[in-house]
Amino acid sequence: MSTALNQQSLVTAASIMTDYNQHEVRCGMCAKEIYVDDEGYRLYMDAINAGLDNPFRCEVCNEEYDDLAYEG
Ligand SMILES: [Zn+2]
Repeated sequence: MSTALNQQSLVTAASIMTDYNQHEVRCGMCAKEIYVDDEGYRLYMDAINAGLDNPFRCEVCNEEYDDLAYEG
């Protein structure tokens, strides 16, 4: 996974299913369907089961988050 992790450990996932990313989860911001691999799905379930915020973001929301971070 080539995700650039920041201080909040957000994970960006693609909105298309691939051979590797076959588990559907939801973007934590816009609830859009996104697809992750086995490890990502385990991470997602762990976060939900632990009552943590959904760490996944679709590509669109991730870009918006980056913009906000730059603006300070
Ligand atoms: Zn989103």
